[in-house]
Amino acid sequence: MNSLASVSQKEIASQLITYPIVETFHSLQGEGTWTGVNAFFIRLAGCDVHCPWCDQKESWTSKKYPQQSIKILAEVSKMANPFMVVITGGEPLMYDLFPLTKALKKLGLRVHLETSGSHSFTGQFDWVTFSPKPFKLPHESIYSQVNELKIVIANQEDLHWAEEEAKKVPREAIKYLQPEWNTPESQSLIFDYILKHPQWRMSLQTHKFLGVR
Ligand code: SF4
Repeated sequence: MNSLASVSQKEIASQLITYPIVETFHSLQGEGTWTGVNAFFIRLAGCDVHCPWCDQKESWTSKKYPQQSIKILAEVSKMANPFMVVITGGEPLMYDLFPLTKALKKLGLRVHLETSGSHSFTGQFDWVTFSPKPFKLPHESIYSQVNELKIVIANQEDLHWAEEEAKKVPREAIKYLQPEWNTPESQSLIFDYILKHPQWRMSLQTHKFLGVR
């Protein structure tokens, strides 16, 4: 077999790699720096962090979801013609994301990641949103990759956690505190905190206010 044939066989094999998928959908990014931007979301199934207030609990187990190939995921992403593709979860870093991100980037797509960083970092991304959780500590490999730090705040203790995590990310990373949706008092907690700590910004889940995904 010549080397050209072996490269193309490898290419075909990688297109057949599959991931468990909860859903894919086209919407606007609801949170953080890219709020309001046209985005195609790929939500991977599986998460072992188990935040008590998680709004995606149905994604924790991967078993009940269908496997979809990279070929299909790349095709539907391209067809949506989004400004960016957001790989989210669940916890996407439970899987090797190099093959998927390589295929998306080969189609000229901009690729973002939303992760708790609880597994070692894989993939090629244009933007990494890191939302660490105290329920399963992040893997060290995430910290140098972070463009945006987003900490969900439910109580005062979470603000301490936010400051500890902020020390580990690059200086230029944008730092957000986001109210836990079902804890209304977290909004004023964050509001008052940012008035005294200007290095932080508030992130709101605008998709929930709009009643869209
Ligand atoms: S890391 Fe995300 S998906 Fe996993 S339990 Fe926490 S909020 Fe839910």
